[in-house]
Amino acid sequence: MSALDISVQRRPDPATDDRLAQILAKPGFGVSFTDHMLTVDWTPDAGWHDARITAYGPITLDPATAVLHYAQEIFEGMKAYRHADGSVWTFRPEANGARMARSSRRLALPELPADDFVATVDALVQVDERWVPDAEGEKSLYLRPFMFASEAFLGVRPAKHVTYMVIASPAGSYFAGGLKPVSLLVAEHHTRAAIGGMGAAKTGGNYASSLAPQQEAIDKGFDQVVFLDAIERKYVEELGGMNLYFVHDDGTIVTPELTGTILEGVTRASIMELAKSLGHKVEERRFSLDEWRHGVGSGRITEVFACGTAAVVTPVGRLAWQDQEVDSSVAGDAGPVTKQVRQALVDIQYGRAEDTFGWMHRVL
Ligand SMILES: *Cc1c(COP(=O)(O)O)cnc(C)c1O
Repeated sequence: MSALDISVQRRPDPATDDRLAQILAKPGFGVSFTDHMLTVDWTPDAGWHDARITAYGPITLDPATAVLHYAQEIFEGMKAYRHADGSVWTFRPEANGARMARSSRRLALPELPADDFVATVDALVQVDERWVPDAEGEKSLYLRPFMFASEAFLGVRPAKHVTYMVIASPAGSYFAGGLKPVSLLVAEHHTRAAIGGMGAAKTGGNYASSLAPQQEAIDKGFDQVVFLDAIERKYVEELGGMNLYFVHDDGTIVTPELTGTILEGVTRASIMELAKSLGHKVEERRFSLDEWRHGVGSGRITEVFACGTAAVVTPVGRLAWQDQEVDSSVAGDAGPVTKQVRQALVDIQYGRAEDTFGWMHRVL
């Protein structure tokens, strides 16, 4: 049970029904935010305190606020789903809470107990319930818990004032027009994370460092960049914000093993369990770029897909490195295993299939 006492001050001017209907009809991703936000403060003496839900709006920060200078910040990403009977659920929220605690240890931020994490997310979803879209079109309410150094000082040490917040944003399906394979360019001059670095923490700094290589990929006509290990520049790690899976012709699915440089995706872990239950053999091991390109060339690798909360499961098509390229899409579409895994996962999330794993958490 959470020990946090969350006060709720509802705004007097929530979105009108008309405006809300307009937003939920075509939510996009990360562009509209709900009526409220949740904030909790932390100091060494008082611990976590003053948990409150208030009107969504700008926050005021002193120009010397530590996060603006030294990036002591972490975040999470998850979704609330509405089922056909109107009930609202989140997916494995305790896994996100546990990951946020791991991230906080790496970034020297205070740990928010997992119970409090789940309670804060539930509380905001309950207050902004009308912002949870109907399941039709795979819509959801995207939830963004985050924590940052809010103490105003210039100096390199962990902040003594930290702020945790949750905001929420209605989200449409990434794939309004069907599952379109993404094209990937291997990052040749950049890495994402090194052993002992922050690669396994969900922190904004990892995203900041991915922007330049990501832009390079876009300028060359690709959707996303693939990062290789920082030592040998040989093994495949992940995309800027999604983990990778390689489907083999004997049904085996391989995903790069966690070596401290890959973000431990909740979707990644769930797909491993799900794929096993669907009869696939799942292997976590090092997986080289050579194995990828030769495997696609020889037909040993039949499908490649990426996964993460935002896009769920995304088929991978073209892969390019230096001036060579292979295409692992199945006739420009997602392959059968990609589709099977994706469908099984979203069916659980939207309550269309029985949740035999105990993953779903009821909010309303
Ligand atoms: C969040 C994230 C993922 C995906 O994690 P999920 O828990 O599945 O959403 C993958 N890679 C990176 C770098 C991430 O930040």
